[in-house]
Amino acid sequence: MAKEFDCRSAGVDCPFMIRDENEDEMASLTQQHVKNTHQKSMSKEEILRNAREM
Ligand SMILES: [Zn+2]
Repeated sequence: MAKEFDCRSAGVDCPFMIRDENEDEMASLTQQHVKNTHQKSMSKEEILRNAREM
């Protein structure tokens, strides 16, 4: 089961979207994006809470 995360669903107006079979990889790529683009830090739990299963 793949996990999908997008900034818009997390309440941020941003076109970033990621879908990955590996949730650790998905969370770490999302953390990089959030840090570099939004200067924020998000925990893996927070990311997974906002992610959908595809
Ligand atoms: Zn974003």
